[in-house]
Amino acid sequence: MKAEPIYRCWAEVDLNALRENLAWLRHRVGPEVGIMTVVKADAYGHGLKAIAALLMQSGTDVFGVANLNEARDIRAVGRGWPILMLGACLPEERPAAVKDDIMPTLSTLAEARAYSKLAVALDRTVKVHIKVDTGMGRLGVSAEVADRLVRAVMRLPGLVMQGLYTHYSAAEDDARFSARQRQRFASLVNRLRHAGILIPSIHANNSGALLHEPETLFNLVRPGLMVYGIVPPGKRRSTLPLSRYLRPALAFKCRVSLVKEVPRGTPLSYGGTFVTPRKMKVATLTAGYGDGYLRAGSNRAWVLVGGKRCRVLGRITMDQMLVDVSRVPRVRVGDEAVLIGSQGRESITTTELAEWGQTIAWEVLTSITYRVRRVYKGASAA
Ligand SMILES: *Cc1c(COP(=O)(O)O)cnc(C)c1O
Repeated sequence: MKAEPIYRCWAEVDLNALRENLAWLRHRVGPEVGIMTVVKADAYGHGLKAIAALLMQSGTDVFGVANLNEARDIRAVGRGWPILMLGACLPEERPAAVKDDIMPTLSTLAEARAYSKLAVALDRTVKVHIKVDTGMGRLGVSAEVADRLVRAVMRLPGLVMQGLYTHYSAAEDDARFSARQRQRFASLVNRLRHAGILIPSIHANNSGALLHEPETLFNLVRPGLMVYGIVPPGKRRSTLPLSRYLRPALAFKCRVSLVKEVPRGTPLSYGGTFVTPRKMKVATLTAGYGDGYLRAGSNRAWVLVGGKRCRVLGRITMDQMLVDVSRVPRVRVGDEAVLIGSQGRESITTTELAEWGQTIAWEVLTSITYRVRRVYKGASAA
């Protein structure tokens, strides 16, 4: 029999949850719309290779990545899936992108010409996506003149005009600004359509827009956060009972390494920012900011021990932190502590932890560091 590995701080990833989330997204967008699963930043901290394998089995259509290493990791898992590089390739990265058949994102004619030259030199065709800036102000050609870039790309040798896309900057918060972005992009798409220019993939919606901008599904959507089972929080309210349909795939856990009673008036952790107001039972946990548990949650965050919510006391340190277990009667060294996830009837969401750490769910997930073992559960984990 194999010995159970000993984990001090680990992330459990439920592959069934991912599979079901993707199935629900598919159901929601309907059979005419493809899904590009966004797996940048190590699949939002879930572990790129395992997640790519699962998403391939579960029928993703395209992958979205942020760099070429991520694209290579996906290719190592399985060939044949289209991969879109969502960022701009650096000039010296372009030859590798062309050779590895990664679809680049273009914002300018200069980039289009460079890829065309490479395509001809390497005797390849390059499928490109043109990014349209409708208000994000990061990448892309402005919507008003994008038609010209599309036509130019269509004339350049070696290039295939595969995709046209834009990106919402505040889909979960700002209905008016999103409407403006939607109108700019939709009017461009219509102009091109009337000119008889048909582009295979047209896409705009990230997770926030999937909730709030149903008119811009076009024929491809680009969910990230929702694939991992998290609903992007924001000012705009959705009427869908999403927590019923989406299940968070990741749980973040560690262990109790010491339990002690401390008298009233005891300063705890660096800087003594917390002083016990009464006698307290305090547990030391085997996780800290070196594992990606945000230090900004010092004196603010909560964890689960013995099925109860326990407050983080004092500063979170690199490898350890202290929590109040005064209300947990039978806490023992070695017990599991839950940083994200459920225990008994309680649960802590990534979004809650993000609020305590004064950041967003995306950053909480992508902050989980390399030393945190990802442990996969679910049917395809073997
Ligand atoms: C990261 C990213 C997405 C996915 O965003 P979520 O909010 O996680 O759904 C979609 N499109 C682009 C261009 C991105 O960079």
